[in-house]
Amino acid sequence: MPRLLPENTWRADPALRALLGSWLRPETLAWAEPELIDMGRAAVNELQAWGDACERQPALLRQFDGWGIRVDEVLYPPAWRELAAAAARAGLVASPYEGETLARAGAEARLVQAALSYLFAPSTATYLCPVAMTDGAARVLADCEGGPAAKDALRHLISRDPASAWTSGQWMTERQGGSDVGLNAVVARRDGDHWRLFGQKFFCSNVGCEIALALARPEQAPPGTRGLALFLVPRDHPDGRRNDYRIDRLKDKLGTRAMATGEVTLDGASAELVGEAERGFAQMTAMLNITRLHNAVTAAAIMRRAVMLASAYAAHREAFGRRLDQHPLHQEILRAMTAQADGALHLTMRMAQLLGRIETKEATSGEAAVFRLGIALTKLYTAKQAVAVVSEALECFGGQGYMEDTGLPRLFRDAQVLPIWEGTTSVLALDSLRVLRRAETLDCLSAELERLDAPDRRRVLDEAHHAIRGDPESAERAARRVAFGLAETWMNGLLQASETPATLPGIGLRPR
Ligand SMILES: Cc1cc2nc3c(=O)[nH]c(=O)nc-3n(C[C@H](O)[C@H](O)[C@H](O)COP(=O)(O)OP(=O)(O)OC[C@H]3O[C@@H](n4cnc5c(N)ncnc54)[C@H](O)[C@@H]3O)c2cc1C
Repeated sequence: MPRLLPENTWRADPALRALLGSWLRPETLAWAEPELIDMGRAAVNELQAWGDACERQPALLRQFDGWGIRVDEVLYPPAWRELAAAAARAGLVASPYEGETLARAGAEARLVQAALSYLFAPSTATYLCPVAMTDGAARVLADCEGGPAAKDALRHLISRDPASAWTSGQWMTERQGGSDVGLNAVVARRDGDHWRLFGQKFFCSNVGCEIALALARPEQAPPGTRGLALFLVPRDHPDGRRNDYRIDRLKDKLGTRAMATGEVTLDGASAELVGEAERGFAQMTAMLNITRLHNAVTAAAIMRRAVMLASAYAAHREAFGRRLDQHPLHQEILRAMTAQADGALHLTMRMAQLLGRIETKEATSGEAAVFRLGIALTKLYTAKQAVAVVSEALECFGGQGYMEDTGLPRLFRDAQVLPIWEGTTSVLALDSLRVLRRAETLDCLSAELERLDAPDRRRVLDEAHHAIRGDPESAERAARRVAFGLAETWMNGLLQASETPATLPGIGLRPR
């Protein structure tokens, strides 16, 4: 098989380079570029080798030691530790929290972080999932008046030193419902100056994490999301003993196979309340804004990787007397995939830009409203498209695409989780409707699309307006159509403004 990956994915990505070239101040780009170049180089060298090694040797759960004592230890291959160290050193979590980075880049720190993560993601066996949850936890802990465990944890979560860097989990989903979080049943009981948690969490990704932020219901708290509080659950007690929770098993998954996802039983696990008890769900939503952004970064990155592979293959493979990339229909397919990858990149980076401005308190109330809606639209659209684009790329290889050696089956498996976790497509489409019903949201989005002179904006805004004013059942039925329409128009507007020629949707790639 010919070499399909370029020597450097930063240098080989004109859309990313053009975007950062026009969205970043020159001094920020000059400061960030050496790191982007190095990440682009690493992505096709050591990161790819470590990612491949992790896929071949997924983590194992060691439940008992030789004396029959329960230890519940997740054993990772050395390559996973290498990925963790590389992510920490590159500041994939740390950069937007560092005084020095913020002094240099300000709000643009989030754009640089998103670009580095985008280059990192497609080679690294879904290690961006731990990065995402750690970033989300850091945001929540940095924003609340935390107790001693929170203060200590934050220092570790944003460390660039691999020896002291920790990662976090996000323990929300329970067996009876993931989307319907209000049904959560894990109980929190006060025990002196701390809390103890009881019950089961059904999906715990990165389950070997040093801390997790978990939703639980204090005794006597009301039902529904109102009664949920957020807790910091350390893996170990300060004296080194394990906290009181069991990892019942690691899940056997379609994809994300290198990243251990466990089922956890909390058996009186010691926990520290994060923020005010009544704000648990609101704080988890703040965490989700960050993890959804990383989800979109991963989706855009996977699409770009798929396009790079399919384009390189088309430049070598011949059929009917000429190279695949000389056949008009194949050119159309590659063009449509590229348009989707470019659109996803632009919408995702717009969210990173807005998040940066919100965090540095530069955002207007309109920008904050646009982000609140946009992050749901971006996550739902890019995740769904990642599956479609990788599927198309796989087909572009013919039968070889179905073979593990090409790397495409793994991308395909890993893409399929993106529309599910951090909120499914339908759940986010319904969330978008709720946000659209807030007085200012539609006006603010309308201003954003107007500024971009986005094609077809009147039609999709009218459709959204009509849906939120109509009866609730019809609105729910229309939710996906409205959400996809808004996301597509927004992307087209961003692409048009950046003079990247593309019209979405591409052939056969329209998600519904
Ligand atoms: C690999 C993997 C790792 C995960 N890691 C974590 C983790 O670390 N932490 C964590 O908390 N969770 C995690 N999750 C769980 C994930 O977030 C949930 O699976 C997801 O939110 C969906 O919840 P559910 O599985 O209970 O599905 P359900 O909520 O039962 O949904 C089933 C279907 O019903 C649809 N649906 C639900 N409500 C509505 C509605 N009102 N209208 C229309 N359709 C609706 C959904 O869109 C979906 O298609 C992980 C999941 C996977 C697959």
